[in-house]
Amino acid sequence: MSYMTFNKTFAPLTIAIGCVLGSTTAMAAKPADPYLSNSEFQQCLDRLKGTSDFRGVDSFTFNNYRPSQPDPSVISSLNYQPEFQKDVWDYLASLVDKERVEDGIRAKRQWGDTLRQIEARYGVKPEHVLGVWGVESNFGQTLGKKPLFDSLATLSCFDRRQSYFRGEFANALKIVQQGDIAPNDMNGSWAGAFGQTQFMPSTFLELAVDFDGDGRRDLVNSVPDALASTANFLSKRGYRSGEPWGYEVKKPSGFWAASNRKDKKSMSYWRGKGFTLANGSPLPYDLDQAALIMPAGEQGPAFLVGKNFDTFYSYNASENYALAIAHLSDLIARGDSSKTDFITAWPTDDPGISRLQSREIQQALLNAGYDIGEVDGMIGDNTRAAIVKYQTSKGVYPADGHAGQKFYNLIMQGGHGSSAQSPLYAPKRSSVWQPSTNPSVSSSDNMGKLIESKQGYRRIVNADGSIRLVRVDAGE
Ligand code: CA
Repeated sequence: MSYMTFNKTFAPLTIAIGCVLGSTTAMAAKPADPYLSNSEFQQCLDRLKGTSDFRGVDSFTFNNYRPSQPDPSVISSLNYQPEFQKDVWDYLASLVDKERVEDGIRAKRQWGDTLRQIEARYGVKPEHVLGVWGVESNFGQTLGKKPLFDSLATLSCFDRRQSYFRGEFANALKIVQQGDIAPNDMNGSWAGAFGQTQFMPSTFLELAVDFDGDGRRDLVNSVPDALASTANFLSKRGYRSGEPWGYEVKKPSGFWAASNRKDKKSMSYWRGKGFTLANGSPLPYDLDQAALIMPAGEQGPAFLVGKNFDTFYSYNASENYALAIAHLSDLIARGDSSKTDFITAWPTDDPGISRLQSREIQQALLNAGYDIGEVDGMIGDNTRAAIVKYQTSKGVYPADGHAGQKFYNLIMQGGHGSSAQSPLYAPKRSSVWQPSTNPSVSSSDNMGKLIESKQGYRRIVNADGSIRLVRVDAGE
């Protein structure tokens, strides 16, 4: 999500925003929504109308889209402080998984002509545009559902950061006034990032472009507009045409330096120190200057990153976020989803899990009778609480609620070594399973018998009685 201005101005908010992205999770439940007085809200909006921020917003637009009620949930999101940060390997495993790489490879085929035209105009490699698109909105599949005017008006009138959000509220109104985006499409994250590029309204006004030539910069419905706007963003933030973002590298033994993205040095410096690519090959000559970053410290993967990595960073002010874009772009360019790990292992005995594995864990917990809500592949408060209970019931110490490979293996084996019955097998309790109401999924497919469909996700009994979980749109 693009909160560049947001993060630069209000660094402490990065954590709360990361949580929306899925980079952090918490054991603690989100605080209850506060009571917000509607009369106070309406008086505030009356006052705002005449302020300098809203010069340039005509009164028809202001009155037409001013919310009739505040949305207190955005204030809880603003003040949400997660207790637990995801480790970098968990964060990357969930963002750069087989599914997303495959979606990216498909998108590259589908939008190949457009991406080539964009590269010709902005000089940005197709895979770099795709990496941003995939991480920002899952290739246009996850745009955020909160009505922007409700969110931004509420944040303009209550709690912290009001002056920042007033500017964004005014900018959102200007976007609709200009006719770029239909009012009904103005939905996004709680903080106001929207569309396939997840731009904040101020970023939209600065950097969005009309690439399909219909006269509107529609980052919600037009893939060419969204991809070209991403390329324009990267280009304006200093992208260097023809350069890679950087490489995974191998440090020479005995070399010590701090991880510091800003400490760029020439490649001959790094060659002279004995650095090679992670696979042992010599460092290539296609990068001007690079800095060493080690996201998990001395023991984990190390990277030499150039200026283009910084342009990814400027999208969301997080090195791990930039690394997710960088890594996803490499895998899409390679066209191979079979291996999503780096060459050097992370310093953990409990590596991260994919979104598919997250869904499988949730499904298995549901089957075991734990109420985790929807199977959505997002390990949130409810799933973590259920994991703690499951771990406790199996005598696992510590019962930390962590969803990694260790817990995945535990629950896939029914909690006690190998099991004759899959934990994904249909439950004994009839209350756990709801019959499918999704008309797009028939009662069977050619691979096996459908027994459950939920949230774009279905369970299939194979001929041998084993269970598979497949995405509804996976074409299986
Ligand atoms: Ca357009």
